[in-house]
Amino acid sequence: MTTETDDFFLPVSGQVLPRFAGVPTFMRLPALGPDDPRRDRVEIGLVGVPWDGGTTNRPGPRHGPRQLRDASTMIRRIHPATGVDPFTLANCADLGDVGANPADVQDSLDRITAFYRQLSAENIVPMSAGGDHLVSLPILRALGESAPVGLLHFDAHTDLFDSYFGGFRYTHGTPFRRAIEEGLLDPRRVVQIGIRGTMYDGEDIAWGRAMGVRIIMIEELFERGARDVMAEAHEILGDGPTYLSFDIDFVDPAYAPGTGTPEIGGPTSFEAQRLLRLAAGLDLVGADLVEVSPPFDPSGGTAFLGASLMFEILCLLAGAVDRRRGR
Ligand code: MN
Ligand code: MN
Repeated sequence: MTTETDDFFLPVSGQVLPRFAGVPTFMRLPALGPDDPRRDRVEIGLVGVPWDGGTTNRPGPRHGPRQLRDASTMIRRIHPATGVDPFTLANCADLGDVGANPADVQDSLDRITAFYRQLSAENIVPMSAGGDHLVSLPILRALGESAPVGLLHFDAHTDLFDSYFGGFRYTHGTPFRRAIEEGLLDPRRVVQIGIRGTMYDGEDIAWGRAMGVRIIMIEELFERGARDVMAEAHEILGDGPTYLSFDIDFVDPAYAPGTGTPEIGGPTSFEAQRLLRLAAGLDLVGADLVEVSPPFDPSGGTAFLGASLMFEILCLLAGAVDRRRGR
Protein backbone atom coordinates (compact mmCIF):
# COMPACT_ATOMS: atom_id res chain seq x y z
CA MET A 1 0.00 0.00 0.00
CA THR A 2 1.46 3.36 -1.02
CA THR A 3 0.19 6.87 -1.42
CA GLU A 4 1.69 9.40 -3.80
CA THR A 5 1.13 12.65 -5.64
CA ASP A 6 2.33 13.33 -9.20
CA ASP A 7 5.68 14.43 -7.80
CA PHE A 8 6.21 12.69 -4.48
CA PHE A 9 5.87 9.33 -2.77
CA LEU A 10 4.20 9.99 0.57
CA PRO A 11 4.28 7.97 3.79
CA VAL A 12 1.11 6.00 4.37
CA SER A 13 -0.90 8.11 6.81
CA GLY A 14 -1.81 6.69 10.20
CA GLN A 15 -5.27 8.10 9.46
CA VAL A 16 -5.61 5.59 6.62
CA LEU A 17 -3.80 2.54 7.98
CA PRO A 18 -2.85 2.53 11.69
CA ARG A 19 0.85 3.10 12.26
CA PHE A 20 1.25 -0.32 13.84
CA ALA A 21 -0.21 -2.05 10.76
CA GLY A 22 1.25 -2.96 7.39
CA VAL A 23 4.68 -4.07 6.15
CA PRO A 24 7.26 -1.81 7.83
CA THR A 25 9.37 0.35 5.51
CA PHE A 26 11.46 3.42 6.42
CA MET A 27 8.97 6.20 7.30
CA ARG A 28 6.15 4.14 5.68
CA LEU A 29 7.46 5.05 2.22
CA PRO A 30 7.10 2.70 -0.75
CA ALA A 31 9.86 0.10 -1.09
CA LEU A 32 11.39 0.24 -4.56
CA GLY A 33 13.67 -2.56 -5.75
CA PRO A 34 16.59 -2.05 -8.14
CA ASP A 35 14.46 -2.62 -11.24
CA ASP A 36 11.44 -0.56 -10.21
CA PRO A 37 10.59 1.85 -13.06
CA ARG A 38 9.61 4.54 -10.53
CA ARG A 39 13.20 4.73 -9.28
CA ASP A 40 14.13 7.48 -11.71
CA ARG A 41 11.90 9.82 -9.70
CA VAL A 42 13.69 9.16 -6.39
CA GLU A 43 15.86 11.97 -5.01
CA ILE A 44 16.58 10.60 -1.51
CA GLY A 45 16.98 6.85 -1.01
CA LEU A 46 16.60 5.36 2.46
CA VAL A 47 18.90 2.35 2.61
CA GLY A 48 19.67 -0.27 5.22
CA VAL A 49 23.19 -1.64 5.68
CA PRO A 50 22.63 -4.67 7.94
CA TRP A 51 26.27 -5.43 8.61
CA ASP A 52 28.47 -5.29 11.73
CA GLY A 53 31.67 -7.02 10.63
CA GLY A 54 33.69 -4.02 11.85
CA THR A 55 32.52 -4.27 15.46
CA THR A 56 35.19 -4.61 18.16
CA ASN A 57 33.00 -4.66 21.28
CA ARG A 58 29.37 -5.68 21.82
CA PRO A 59 27.86 -6.73 18.46
CA GLY A 60 24.39 -6.51 16.96
CA PRO A 61 23.94 -3.50 14.63
CA ARG A 62 23.48 -5.93 11.72
CA HIS A 63 19.94 -6.08 13.11
CA GLY A 64 19.60 -2.28 13.10
CA PRO A 65 17.91 -1.61 9.74
CA ARG A 66 14.99 -3.97 10.35
CA GLN A 67 14.38 -2.56 13.83
CA LEU A 68 14.78 1.04 12.62
CA ARG A 69 12.24 0.42 9.87
CA ASP A 70 9.76 -0.87 12.43
CA ALA A 71 10.39 2.05 14.83
CA SER A 72 10.18 4.56 11.97
CA THR A 73 6.53 3.68 11.37
CA MET A 74 5.89 5.81 14.49
CA ILE A 75 7.10 8.94 12.67
CA ARG A 76 4.50 11.34 11.26
CA ARG A 77 5.06 13.59 8.25
CA ILE A 78 5.65 17.14 9.52
CA HIS A 79 8.58 18.41 11.61
CA PRO A 80 7.14 19.81 14.88
CA ALA A 81 9.53 22.76 15.29
CA THR A 82 10.29 23.87 11.72
CA GLY A 83 7.10 22.81 9.92
CA VAL A 84 9.23 21.10 7.27
CA ASP A 85 7.53 18.27 5.37
CA PRO A 86 10.59 16.49 3.94
CA PHE A 87 8.45 14.24 1.74
CA THR A 88 7.20 17.16 -0.38
CA LEU A 89 10.61 18.89 -0.51
CA ALA A 90 12.33 15.88 -2.06
CA ASN A 91 11.03 12.60 -3.39
CA CYS A 92 11.95 9.87 -0.90
CA ALA A 93 11.66 6.08 -1.05
CA ASP A 94 12.91 2.99 0.76
CA LEU A 95 15.48 1.34 -1.54
CA GLY A 96 15.95 -1.77 0.57
CA ASP A 97 19.12 -3.22 2.07
CA VAL A 98 22.66 -3.71 0.83
CA GLY A 99 23.42 -7.42 0.58
CA ALA A 100 26.62 -7.33 2.61
CA ASN A 101 28.55 -10.54 3.37
CA PRO A 102 28.43 -11.35 7.10
CA ALA A 103 31.57 -13.49 6.86
CA ASP A 104 34.01 -11.30 4.90
CA VAL A 105 35.01 -7.71 5.67
CA GLN A 106 36.70 -6.75 2.38
CA ASP A 107 34.00 -8.37 0.24
CA SER A 108 31.37 -6.47 2.25
CA LEU A 109 33.15 -3.16 1.81
CA ASP A 110 33.24 -3.74 -1.96
CA ARG A 111 29.57 -4.72 -2.10
CA ILE A 112 28.53 -1.66 -0.10
CA THR A 113 30.57 0.67 -2.34
CA ALA A 114 29.05 -0.91 -5.48
CA PHE A 115 25.53 -0.32 -4.10
CA TYR A 116 26.25 3.37 -3.45
CA ARG A 117 28.04 3.92 -6.77
CA GLN A 118 24.81 2.79 -8.40
CA LEU A 119 22.86 5.36 -6.33
CA SER A 120 25.33 8.08 -7.33
CA ALA A 121 24.86 7.10 -10.99
CA GLU A 122 21.11 7.51 -10.48
CA ASN A 123 21.65 10.88 -8.76
CA ILE A 124 20.05 9.57 -5.55
CA VAL A 125 21.14 11.06 -2.20
CA PRO A 126 21.49 8.26 0.39
CA MET A 127 20.13 8.32 3.94
CA SER A 128 21.53 5.10 5.40
CA ALA A 129 20.76 3.09 8.51
CA GLY A 130 23.58 0.94 9.88
CA GLY A 131 25.14 -1.31 10.57
CA ASP A 132 28.28 -0.48 12.51
CA HIS A 133 30.31 2.65 11.80
CA LEU A 134 32.68 0.97 9.37
CA VAL A 135 29.86 1.16 6.78
CA SER A 136 30.58 4.89 6.41
CA LEU A 137 33.91 4.09 4.71
CA PRO A 138 32.55 2.14 1.71
CA ILE A 139 29.74 4.71 1.37
CA LEU A 140 32.31 7.52 1.25
CA ARG A 141 34.30 5.53 -1.35
CA ALA A 142 31.30 6.11 -3.61
CA LEU A 143 30.36 9.65 -2.56
CA GLY A 144 33.91 11.05 -2.25
CA GLU A 145 35.22 9.36 -5.39
CA SER A 146 35.50 12.38 -7.67
CA ALA A 147 36.41 14.94 -5.00
CA PRO A 148 36.80 14.84 -1.20
CA VAL A 149 33.76 15.88 0.83
CA GLY A 150 33.40 17.46 4.27
CA LEU A 151 32.07 15.60 7.31
CA LEU A 152 29.83 16.58 10.21
CA HIS A 153 30.28 13.71 12.67
CA PHE A 154 28.34 13.18 15.91
CA ASP A 155 29.89 10.43 18.05
CA ALA A 156 31.36 9.65 21.46
CA HIS A 157 34.44 8.40 19.55
CA THR A 158 36.65 9.89 16.85
CA ASP A 159 36.77 6.67 14.81
CA LEU A 160 40.20 7.91 13.74
CA PHE A 161 42.10 4.93 15.18
CA ASP A 162 44.84 3.42 13.05
CA SER A 163 44.37 -0.29 13.73
CA TYR A 164 43.34 -2.98 16.18
CA PHE A 165 45.09 -6.13 17.31
CA GLY A 166 48.39 -5.33 15.71
CA GLY A 167 47.58 -4.07 12.26
CA PHE A 168 43.96 -4.83 11.42
CA ARG A 169 42.97 -1.59 9.71
CA TYR A 170 39.25 -2.00 8.99
CA THR A 171 37.00 -1.76 12.06
CA HIS A 172 34.25 0.57 13.24
CA GLY A 173 36.97 2.52 15.08
CA THR A 174 38.94 3.35 11.90
CA PRO A 175 36.59 4.48 9.07
CA PHE A 176 37.41 8.19 9.06
CA ARG A 177 41.18 7.65 9.33
CA ARG A 178 40.99 5.43 6.24
CA ALA A 179 38.66 7.93 4.50
CA ILE A 180 41.15 10.77 5.09
CA GLU A 181 44.09 8.61 3.96
CA GLU A 182 42.18 7.60 0.82
CA GLY A 183 41.42 11.23 -0.03
CA LEU A 184 37.65 10.78 0.37
CA LEU A 185 37.39 13.39 3.15
CA ASP A 186 39.06 16.80 3.32
CA PRO A 187 40.40 16.70 6.91
CA ARG A 188 40.20 20.51 7.18
CA ARG A 189 36.46 20.15 6.55
CA VAL A 190 35.85 17.45 9.19
CA VAL A 191 34.05 18.43 12.42
CA GLN A 192 33.62 15.85 15.19
CA ILE A 193 31.31 16.64 18.10
CA GLY A 194 30.72 14.82 21.40
CA ILE A 195 34.00 12.93 21.85
CA ARG A 196 34.39 11.41 25.32
CA GLY A 197 35.12 8.21 27.22
CA THR A 198 38.21 6.50 28.52
CA MET A 199 41.09 6.23 26.06
CA TYR A 200 43.68 3.74 24.89
CA ASP A 201 46.37 6.37 24.35
CA GLY A 202 44.86 9.43 22.67
CA GLU A 203 46.77 8.82 19.43
CA ASP A 204 43.52 9.06 17.42
CA ILE A 205 42.86 12.58 18.70
CA ALA A 206 46.47 13.69 18.21
CA TRP A 207 46.51 12.32 14.63
CA GLY A 208 43.18 14.00 13.79
CA ARG A 209 44.26 17.37 15.14
CA ALA A 210 47.58 17.14 13.27
CA MET A 211 45.58 16.54 10.05
CA GLY A 212 43.42 19.60 10.71
CA VAL A 213 40.28 17.84 11.94
CA ARG A 214 38.22 19.97 14.34
CA ILE A 215 37.54 17.71 17.34
CA ILE A 216 35.02 19.13 19.82
CA MET A 217 35.12 17.20 23.07
CA ILE A 218 31.90 16.85 25.07
CA GLU A 219 33.16 19.29 27.73
CA GLU A 220 33.58 22.01 25.09
CA LEU A 221 30.12 21.31 23.65
CA PHE A 222 28.43 21.72 27.03
CA GLU A 223 30.66 24.68 27.98
CA ARG A 224 29.87 26.68 24.82
CA GLY A 225 26.40 25.42 23.98
CA ALA A 226 24.85 24.03 20.80
CA ARG A 227 24.34 27.34 19.00
CA ASP A 228 27.95 28.48 19.33
CA VAL A 229 29.43 25.10 18.40
CA MET A 230 27.20 24.67 15.37
CA ALA A 231 28.01 28.21 14.20
CA GLU A 232 31.66 27.16 14.17
CA ALA A 233 30.75 23.95 12.32
CA HIS A 234 29.01 26.01 9.61
CA GLU A 235 32.10 28.24 9.34
CA ILE A 236 34.38 25.22 8.83
CA LEU A 237 32.09 23.25 6.49
CA GLY A 238 30.98 26.30 4.48
CA ASP A 239 28.84 25.65 1.42
CA GLY A 240 30.89 22.73 0.10
CA PRO A 241 29.51 19.19 -0.22
CA THR A 242 29.23 17.61 3.22
CA TYR A 243 28.39 14.16 4.56
CA LEU A 244 26.64 13.78 7.94
CA SER A 245 27.38 10.74 10.08
CA PHE A 246 25.54 10.12 13.34
CA ASP A 247 26.66 7.37 15.74
CA ILE A 248 23.83 6.69 18.19
CA ASP A 249 26.41 6.42 21.01
CA PHE A 250 26.74 10.23 20.73
CA VAL A 251 23.58 10.31 22.89
CA ASP A 252 23.88 9.44 26.58
CA PRO A 253 23.34 5.73 27.35
CA ALA A 254 20.37 6.73 29.54
CA TYR A 255 18.61 7.43 26.21
CA ALA A 256 20.56 5.09 23.94
CA PRO A 257 21.66 1.99 25.85
CA GLY A 258 21.18 -0.24 22.80
CA THR A 259 24.59 0.24 21.25
CA GLY A 260 27.94 -1.53 21.27
CA THR A 261 30.25 1.05 22.85
CA PRO A 262 28.26 3.30 25.22
CA GLU A 263 29.97 6.22 27.01
CA ILE A 264 28.42 8.13 29.91
CA GLY A 265 28.13 11.91 30.13
CA GLY A 266 26.47 12.46 26.77
CA PRO A 267 23.71 14.71 25.40
CA THR A 268 20.00 14.05 25.91
CA SER A 269 17.72 13.07 23.06
CA PHE A 270 16.49 16.70 22.85
CA GLU A 271 20.02 18.09 22.77
CA ALA A 272 20.75 15.75 19.85
CA GLN A 273 17.64 16.98 18.02
CA ARG A 274 18.61 20.60 18.66
CA LEU A 275 22.13 20.13 17.31
CA LEU A 276 20.78 18.50 14.16
CA ARG A 277 18.27 21.32 13.62
CA LEU A 278 21.16 23.78 13.84
CA ALA A 279 22.84 21.92 10.94
CA ALA A 280 20.16 23.25 8.55
CA GLY A 281 21.63 24.98 5.52
CA LEU A 282 24.65 22.71 5.00
CA ASP A 283 25.01 21.31 1.48
CA LEU A 284 24.50 17.70 2.53
CA VAL A 285 25.18 15.00 -0.08
CA GLY A 286 24.36 12.01 2.12
CA ALA A 287 24.00 10.86 5.71
CA ASP A 288 23.96 7.82 7.93
CA LEU A 289 22.77 6.80 11.37
CA VAL A 290 24.73 3.87 12.75
CA GLU A 291 25.43 1.60 15.71
CA VAL A 292 21.86 0.89 16.89
CA SER A 293 22.13 -2.64 18.31
CA PRO A 294 18.70 -4.26 18.86
CA PRO A 295 20.05 -7.16 20.99
CA PHE A 296 21.08 -4.55 23.60
CA ASP A 297 17.83 -2.60 23.16
CA PRO A 298 15.09 -4.72 24.77
CA SER A 299 12.72 -1.74 25.22
CA GLY A 300 13.13 -0.65 21.59
CA GLY A 301 13.83 2.85 22.88
CA THR A 302 17.22 3.19 21.19
CA ALA A 303 15.75 2.17 17.83
CA PHE A 304 12.94 4.70 18.29
CA LEU A 305 15.51 7.40 19.09
CA GLY A 306 17.49 6.35 16.02
CA ALA A 307 14.45 6.47 13.73
CA SER A 308 13.45 9.86 15.16
CA LEU A 309 16.95 11.26 14.53
CA MET A 310 16.80 9.81 11.00
CA PHE A 311 13.70 11.96 10.49
CA GLU A 312 15.60 15.05 11.71
CA ILE A 313 18.42 14.23 9.28
CA LEU A 314 15.97 13.51 6.44
CA CYS A 315 14.58 17.04 6.88
CA LEU A 316 18.13 18.42 6.48
CA LEU A 317 18.80 16.30 3.38
CA ALA A 318 15.46 17.24 1.80
CA GLY A 319 16.26 20.93 2.35
CA ALA A 320 19.66 20.47 0.67
CA VAL A 321 18.14 18.62 -2.31
CA ASP A 322 15.50 21.33 -2.68
CA ARG A 323 18.12 24.11 -2.62
CA ARG A 324 20.28 22.34 -5.25
CA ARG A 325 17.23 21.90 -7.47
CA GLY A 326 16.53 25.62 -7.31
CA ARG A 327 20.08 26.53 -8.24
MN1 MN B 1 31.34 5.67 15.61
MN1 MN C 1 30.92 5.70 18.82
